[in-house]
Amino acid sequence: MRMTTDEKYMRAALKQAEKAYNLGETPIGCVIVHEDKIIARGYNRRNTDKNPLAHAEVAAIKKASKKLGDWRLEECTLYVTLEPCQMCAGAIVQSRIPRVVVGCMNPKAGCTGSILNLLDIQAFNHQADLTTGVLEEECSQLMKQFFRELREARKMKKKAEAQSL
Ligand SMILES: [Zn+2]
Repeated sequence: MRMTTDEKYMRAALKQAEKAYNLGETPIGCVIVHEDKIIARGYNRRNTDKNPLAHAEVAAIKKASKKLGDWRLEECTLYVTLEPCQMCAGAIVQSRIPRVVVGCMNPKAGCTGSILNLLDIQAFNHQADLTTGVLEEECSQLMKQFFRELREARKMKKKAEAQSL
């Protein structure tokens, strides 16, 4: 089966998410594409860096701006495995990214369609096109696997603690 361009880049974002997963971080990954090339990558490092701002999208936006020598990312597309939060959706608006592609949605925290859509507020000076559901199944499976393992690890820990009493 032939992969679409969006799937190809989402696959690269998933690879970034796996890096987070391997660090024990919630597996979220992001890539930014400019002129058909990946110019920046990022993954969630919130626990590792002990930094609430260390989201995948923010890391990738920082790198892309540095690479292009401009805070405006006007010809870029951002791919992210999970629907962006309010901070990252805000950073997307701030960096003038015109197109965002999302893997799976985040009903409890997503701000590009779930709770609200910060990319489509006409009162702001910038809106972004949004495509959702690209490799949705893979993106959500990775999240589910992570949280399943986290729950199991917590259960084991509780059990071990109870036995040592
Ligand atoms: Zn975020």
